[in-house]
Amino acid sequence: MDSPSQTPRQRIMDCLTQRTSTSRELAELVGIPERQVEEHLPHIVKSLSRDTTRQFMQDPSTCRDCQFVFRDRTRFTTPSRCPRCRSEDIGAPQFRITCHESRSSS
Ligand SMILES: [Zn+2]
Repeated sequence: MDSPSQTPRQRIMDCLTQRTSTSRELAELVGIPERQVEEHLPHIVKSLSRDTTRQFMQDPSTCRDCQFVFRDRTRFTTPSRCPRCRSEDIGAPQFRITCHESRSSS
């Protein structure tokens, strides 16, 4: 499955095209530290912003205790604490890449 010619960033993009993942899951799938995944993500978003066939999607972090949703959060790391109930049990944001099938016109 792994192609040695692929960079970690390409492999992250491949993984996100196939399934929704957190940065921790991506770290395991690609075999790099989670921190490096978080560093790659902004670049992936930037490159996909110019891509008309693919779109980067982010499901925001949520508090597992009060269901607070971190909608305004633009970073890709998991918040450490809920501003509403101060819980530290925060669900990680999830990422995926959706493809717009470019079907050839008939
Ligand atoms: Zn909360």
